[in-house]
Amino acid sequence: MADLLIKDGHVIDPANGVDDIADVLIEGGEIVAVGKPKSKAGKTIDAKGRIVCPGLMDMHVHLREPGQEWKEDIESGSKAAVAGGVTSMCCMPNTFPRLDHAGVIRQVIERASEAGLCHVHPIGAVTKNLDGKELTEMRELVRAGAVAFSDDGMPVWHGGIMRKALEYASSFGFLVIQHAEDLQLTTGGCVNEGWISTQLGVEGMPAEGEDDIVARDIMLAKLADARYHVAHISSKGAVELVRRAKAGGLKVSTEAAPHHFALTEEEVLGFNADAKMNPPLRTEEDRQAVIEGLRDGTIEVIATDHAPHHEDDKRCGLSCAAFGIVGLETMLPVSLGLVRDGVLDLPGLIAKMTYNPARLLNLDTGTLSEGAAADICIFDPEATWRLDRDKLFSKSKNTPWHGRELTGKVTHTIKGGRVVFEDGSITVSP
Ligand SMILES: [Zn+2]
Repeated sequence: MADLLIKDGHVIDPANGVDDIADVLIEGGEIVAVGKPKSKAGKTIDAKGRIVCPGLMDMHVHLREPGQEWKEDIESGSKAAVAGGVTSMCCMPNTFPRLDHAGVIRQVIERASEAGLCHVHPIGAVTKNLDGKELTEMRELVRAGAVAFSDDGMPVWHGGIMRKALEYASSFGFLVIQHAEDLQLTTGGCVNEGWISTQLGVEGMPAEGEDDIVARDIMLAKLADARYHVAHISSKGAVELVRRAKAGGLKVSTEAAPHHFALTEEEVLGFNADAKMNPPLRTEEDRQAVIEGLRDGTIEVIATDHAPHHEDDKRCGLSCAAFGIVGLETMLPVSLGLVRDGVLDLPGLIAKMTYNPARLLNLDTGTLSEGAAADICIFDPEATWRLDRDKLFSKSKNTPWHGRELTGKVTHTIKGGRVVFEDGSITVSP
């Protein structure tokens, strides 16, 4: 007898072209059949009226451990992940200490496996201490378990260092992920530069401060014949640069965060620090460009840039408030807006949160193939609910969606055949 049968759900598995009412049978932590298997199972989940898809992947998360555990830690971040249907996530290296040496990468992986809820794949630092001056021992970081490289939070500003990083990481098939920000244009800024920054009387961050770094990096990626990935793309100019680079055959990819395609800079009116992030929310024109990029495939990944911050870091005036919002628990409902608006179909959307990021990172997840690990998300695409930030599993509550009605709710998250989240509760104790 099999362990688990997910019955009568609408199964969507973009990697295998599955988009049909079917059952999913799980045994020994693996998917053994998708279709109408005759076997019985120890536990059955009735998924009628729900979507059954591969567990989501979020390739851009800040887990704050080690060093800032009052904001988030690997366990609380894992709970937030599975509550959002996420079974694999990549954590950024701007912790304290930085993920710039093998020991700390191994420590993160160990802590994640103790928590046991969600796969955590560390992203190694490009430069030591993220200070942009000296490359890390990239090979050693990979041997310890790093799946890509980034100095996220900071740009790799030095062209020569960026070129070397691209060449070196590419020589063993790994991605360099750039936080594209020209600090000489943005330092001191806290929102998008434009009429909103003028109206609020605060320093702005011009979109050109994103575009110029992306333009330079694309030239370097061409020079180095390397793979290059733009994190949290937010400006019309940057989307157009990536589109042209792809058309020219370069190995350039990018991701968009839900807030950048769902919200605009107007959210910060009233000095709302829960709408302050980096890159900032931009204009409606930029938002439409990001949506068009998602539609035409220029942007192949949706990732949250989940950035938990304590109240004290946010309630100190817009200019001094920390950048970032939590995102793991709102990724799916906010992104489903793209389907309702006719931008993407459901398989197209799910691919951007499963198979596409997994493929970029050479990971073996994001599919419901027979023999694959049974990492699965089940959600009700029509369920509406009001987000209460005090009910988030994340330790931090900095979300612009507090009090808003969202459509689409995760009902079950399954990792390695175990139900880790069911009807609002974490079902496995770490
Ligand atoms: Zn960033």
